Amino acid sequence: MKRFVLHDASVIFPYSISEHTSVIVEDGIIADICPSDNVDANEEIINCTGLYLSPGFVDIHVHGGGGYDFMDGTEEAIRGAINAHMKHGTTTIVPTTLTADDYDLASMFDAMRDICLSEKDAQTIPYIPGVHLEGPYISPEMAGAQDPKYIRKPTEDDWLRIFMMSHGLIKIWTVAPELRGAISLCKRLRKEGVVFSAGHSSAKYSDVLSAIKAGYSMATHLYSSMSTITRENGYRVPGLLEAALLHDEITTEIIADGKHLPAPLLKLVVKTKGVDKIVLVTDAMRGAGMPDGEYMLGSLKGGQLVKVFDGIAHMPDGISFAGSVATCDRLVRVMLNDAEVQLSDAVRMMTLNPSRELGIDKRKGSVEKGKDADIVLFDDNIEIKKVFLRGKQSYDIEF
Ligand SMILES: [Zn+2]
Repeated sequence: MKRFVLHDASVIFPYSISEHTSVIVEDGIIADICPSDNVDANEEIINCTGLYLSPGFVDIHVHGGGGYDFMDGTEEAIRGAINAHMKHGTTTIVPTTLTADDYDLASMFDAMRDICLSEKDAQTIPYIPGVHLEGPYISPEMAGAQDPKYIRKPTEDDWLRIFMMSHGLIKIWTVAPELRGAISLCKRLRKEGVVFSAGHSSAKYSDVLSAIKAGYSMATHLYSSMSTITRENGYRVPGLLEAALLHDEITTEIIADGKHLPAPLLKLVVKTKGVDKIVLVTDAMRGAGMPDGEYMLGSLKGGQLVKVFDGIAHMPDGISFAGSVATCDRLVRVMLNDAEVQLSDAVRMMTLNPSRELGIDKRKGSVEKGKDADIVLFDDNIEIKKVFLRGKQSYDIEF
């Protein structure tokens, strides 16, 4: 039995922060939480004085990092990208595909299956609940950084083939709901536990209502690559953006890297959706955790060359963004500084909310007795000092 105490931290709970508090970890599980004064002198202690103790971050939309993209489709690339994000506090990760051909999708699924099988109980990499498929069923007008040449239509033959090649790994699927076939796809695969997210979409308001009825529960990177108000014969018609803000059935992703959305828009989302309906995502590409320079977005073979500078990845046109280079610690920092939310709120959007959307909140997403000891320790500036994956210390720097 491996037992130790994370001693005398400021523990971040979903709705409060408790100073001088200790968390007792036993066999990878949070065994108890108590005031630091109550800790037995015989316990093995890790001193956390002056640090925040937070549940590990849960990133449900991330394409790569550390110089790797998940679409590289190799074990080395996937482990490299995951490891880069782990050092920034990510303890649960949902690797995300780009719109691609079957060959690239299959390579990614195969490599991911091998890693999930070999890492089942290993505690050496963040937990992988599954994969987020972003596309290939998206609106050509809202492709954003997705390569339009791989966009397809959601015919039953096509999505069944992708589903079969995925080894049951699909956890989230971003599909433009207005496409013919999208609604029946959602109805069928909701039953298999797939979460449907509306994104890269030209949907009209009425399309979104049908999507919600069919079981869509999320909107992908709010504001980016989605329809908003248009005018038809002078009358205003709301789009996906307004529908996502209005309807409680929808939880919204936001890329809170401080570049995609300026402070007033972050504040507007917080005010309209409320903290509990927001999930922070990095949408990071391979340049995350790397110096500025040129990087391929997507696979090395079939991707697009983009430039990283000023904390963001730029498409060659110089107009649009090609995903972010953010890590989860930065998202929390941006929400504190730009959106001016409380620390416990920022952390909840990065931990408990995504865990709940994935249905893994019984084990993940908060510091609670009986949950997995996925824990990060950071300072006042959200600089990560230690990371624990199911009780195993996986990252440590002097503080
Ligand atoms: Zn993305």
